Amino acid sequence: MPFFIEVILPLALPKPFTYAINEVEFNFIQLGMRVGVPFGRSKVYTAIVIGLHQNPPQLYEAKEIHQILDDTPIVTEAQLKHWHWIANYYMCAIGDVYKSAMPSGYLLESETIITPKKEYTQQEDLTDDEYLIYDALRKQSSIKIQEIAAILNKKTVLPTINKLLEKNVITLQEEISEKYKPKTVRYVRLQSEFLAQDKLSELLEILSRAQKQREAVLSYFQLNAVEKKPITVKKLTETSGVSPAAIKALIDKNIFEEYTLEEDRVQFTGSNNAGFTLSYKQEEAFAEVKKSFENHQVTLLHGVTSSGKTELYIKLIEECINKGQQALYLLPEIALTTQLVVRLTAYFGNQVAVFHSKYSNNERIETWQQVLQSSDKAKVIIGARSALFLPFQNLGLIVIDEEHEQTFKQQDPAPRYHARDAAIILASYFKAKVLLGSATPSIESYYNATHNKYGYVQMKERYGNVTPPEIVLVDLKDKYKRKRMTGHFSDELTEAIAETLSLGKQVILFQNRRGFSPWLECMTCGHVPQCPQCDVSLTYYKYKNQLRCHYCGYNMAKPTHCHQCHSADLSTKGFGTEQIELELKELFPDKNSWRMDQDTTRGKYGYEKIIDAFKNKEVDILVGTQMLAKGLHFDNVSLVGILNADNMLYQPDFRAFERAYQMMVQVSGRAGRKDTRGKVLIQTYNPLHNIIRQVTDNDYEGMYKEQVYERHNFKYPPFYKLVKLTLKHKDYEKLKDGAMWLYNVLLQNMNVPVLGPEEPGISKIRNQYIRTIMIKIPSGSSLATNKSIIYKIITSFDAIPQYRVIRVSVNVDPY
Ligand code: ADP
Ligand code: ZN
Ligand code: ZN
Repeated sequence: MPFFIEVILPLALPKPFTYAINEVEFNFIQLGMRVGVPFGRSKVYTAIVIGLHQNPPQLYEAKEIHQILDDTPIVTEAQLKHWHWIANYYMCAIGDVYKSAMPSGYLLESETIITPKKEYTQQEDLTDDEYLIYDALRKQSSIKIQEIAAILNKKTVLPTINKLLEKNVITLQEEISEKYKPKTVRYVRLQSEFLAQDKLSELLEILSRAQKQREAVLSYFQLNAVEKKPITVKKLTETSGVSPAAIKALIDKNIFEEYTLEEDRVQFTGSNNAGFTLSYKQEEAFAEVKKSFENHQVTLLHGVTSSGKTELYIKLIEECINKGQQALYLLPEIALTTQLVVRLTAYFGNQVAVFHSKYSNNERIETWQQVLQSSDKAKVIIGARSALFLPFQNLGLIVIDEEHEQTFKQQDPAPRYHARDAAIILASYFKAKVLLGSATPSIESYYNATHNKYGYVQMKERYGNVTPPEIVLVDLKDKYKRKRMTGHFSDELTEAIAETLSLGKQVILFQNRRGFSPWLECMTCGHVPQCPQCDVSLTYYKYKNQLRCHYCGYNMAKPTHCHQCHSADLSTKGFGTEQIELELKELFPDKNSWRMDQDTTRGKYGYEKIIDAFKNKEVDILVGTQMLAKGLHFDNVSLVGILNADNMLYQPDFRAFERAYQMMVQVSGRAGRKDTRGKVLIQTYNPLHNIIRQVTDNDYEGMYKEQVYERHNFKYPPFYKLVKLTLKHKDYEKLKDGAMWLYNVLLQNMNVPVLGPEEPGISKIRNQYIRTIMIKIPSGSSLATNKSIIYKIITSFDAIPQYRVIRVSVNVDPY
C-alpha cells in the first residue's frame, strides 16, 4: 500500500499538493509538521503537512518528499482550521495565508550544495577556475553555490559549475538548512584544580608576569564572591577592564574553562508590583463586561480616552492567566507596544511576550515556541495584527484595543484579512472571549453592539474624573482674511502654544501629511512634477532638497527650473509635517520640536527614541501624522493643535467622515490626562461642517446615526458586504479591455450591484495602470454563493490568453 501526505506550499497555489512517503514516515509524520518537498524544476520548499492518507492523486504522479524538518508539529490544528477560514473568506490561496502566518525563519527555501565525486582523479584536465573549486572540495565536504562566487572572485559561476558537472567532478543537491540559531552566551569558570582556597596564591604567582591576566583572575574571584551566579565573559571583561584576548589566554592556559548556555533573546525583568485598584466606575464596567461575556462571545467596550480601558484589560487578563489560559492583546500599531509592554510587564513580569514584524526572525521563532509550549514566558502576548497567527494552545481572551483602527486590515499582499474579524473567528475555536475597546468604535462594531450581536459596555468618565478637553475651532478663512496667520499657524494657535510652554506643559500638533509639501508647482505654466512611474505628484522634502514619491520611493533632486517651460518660478503647495516643524523653529527658536511620522520612525527603535524623548520632556512640541492619534499616553501634554482638519474630510472614500471624526477625537484625547484640563485647537475652513461639530460636541451618537443612514442609502457596510477587484497591468488598453470584459461578465452573472470598472484616484503605481470593480452583496444574499460565482468568473478571465497577464487581486471587506 502506498502512503501519502497533503501539504500546503508557501506559494499562491489554489490547492494543497500530494507527496509520497513510506510507511515509517507515515507513522512518524503528524499534521502541522514541516517537510521539505521538491516543487517546480529543482527547488525544495518548506511545506506544512495537513493530511495523511493512502489515495494517490488523480492528475499527477506524487513526488517523494525530500526531508522531514520537525520532530513534533509546530502548527496546531486550530491554526490550520483558521488558515482555511481566512483563505476562504478573504478569497486567497491557502499558501498565501501560510506564508504570511509563519515567521519567515520557518519557511526556508533550499540552497544548492556542491559535493565532490569521490572517484574523480584527472585533475590535470581542469582549467584554473575549475581547479580552484576542485581544490576547495578536497578541504571541505560541501560548498554552497553562493560561496563559489567568493572562491572564484567573480559573479558568473554557472558556466564553471556546468563544466565540472560535465567532467563528472561534482554533484549538485538541494538542501534546506535551518536558519534559526538559539542565542548562546559565553561563560567562564575556574578550572576545578584551582578551586581550593590555598590555590589562589599559587595561581597569582604563576601569573605574576602577566599583569592583565592576573587582574582578570582577581576580578573573577570578586565577582564570584558577590554575585554567586555564573559569570559571563562579557561581565568579566566589563568589570575587570581586561581585554577578551587576556581571557582567551587564560582559557588557553587551562586556568579558565569556557562553556556556553542558551538564552532567550527577549527577557523582561518586571516585578509583580505595580498593583492598582480599579475606581468605582471601572469596577462597575469590569463587572458589566464579565456579565456581558456570559451571553456574548464579543463585547464592545466604549470608553472615552483616558477612562482606564487598559486597567480593565489588565484585570481581565489577570483572571484569564489565573485560569491557566493564554491572552492575546492586539494593538493597531507597533509604535504602541513599547508603552504597553512597560505597563504590562510591571504587572505581569516575564509572563509577557511580544510579537511583531520589527522583531528579528530569531526572536519571533522563540515567541512562537513559547506560545506553542504554553510556556510561562508567554501567557500574555502583545502584538500587531500578525500576532493572531501564533500557535495558541488554550486561548482564553483576546483584547483588541483601538478596534476602529484601519491598520488592523492588511491591504497588501494577500491574505487581505481584518485582524479584528479574524480574531473573533479564532476565539470561537477556543470558546475564548473577545473584548473590543475604543473611544470611537467603528460603525460596524457599534452597529453589531446595538443589534445585540455584541455585548456593549460604556465608560463615560475619564479616570480621576478629569474634565474632557475644551475644544476650540479656529476659522482659517477668517484668519487669512484678517492676516492673522504666520505660515500655517493662526495667532490663536501660536498664543496657545506659547502659554502652554510657559507653564512647563507640552504640545502635540497634528498634520496628516508628511514631507514639506505635497507638491511643487510652476507659477508660470502650472506644471506639477509627477512620479514617472505612478499617477501622483512628488512630495517635496526641503531638508534633503528632494522630490519623492510616497508610492514607489522614486526620488530626484529638486529641480531649479520647470521641466516644461524652464521658468525658475517654482512654488511649493500644501504642507506636511516637515514644513510645520521648520515653521515651529522660527516661531519658537529656543524650544525643542520633533517630528514623528513614517520618515522619522524607521528602524527597530525608531518610535521608541521619539516617544521616550517626549516622555522625558526633552522635547517641547511633537509634530506628527495619524501615528499620534493611536493611544499614546503622555501625562504632561495639555494642548493639542490640529493644523488643518479639512484634508481629512474630503477623501474619496465612504469611511472618510467616520475616520475624520475618529482621528480628531483620538488626537484630542492626548490632551490633558491626569490632573489638568486639556485644550484642543482645530484649524479649519469649515467650522460648520457636521463632523467638526460632532467632534466639538463629543457627539458620537450623532456621528453614528448620520453615517449609518448614509451607509444604508448608498449600499455600504454593515448593510452590504463589499468585494473589490483590482486589476493591474502596464498596458493601458489591454487593461481597459480586460476590466470591461470582467465587469460585463460579473454583471450578467450576478444578482447584486456591480460597479465600475473605475479608474481610481491614483490610477498608476510603479508603471502599472489600475482599474477597480466593486461588488456589493446585500446582507440578505448568500456571501458564499456570491463569492463562488466571483471566483469562477475570475478563473475564466485568467483562462483567456490576452487577459491572463492582467493581475486581478480580490479584497473582501476593503478598507
Ligand atoms: P484609556 O486606555 O481608556 O485611554 P488608560 O488606561 O490609559 O485610559 O488610563 C488613563 C490614565 O489613567 C493612565 O495614566 C492610567 O495609568 C491612569 N489610570 C486609569 N485607571 C487607573 C487606576 N484604576 N489606578 C491608577 N491609575 C489609573
Ligand atoms: Zn512651467
Ligand atoms: Zn512613484
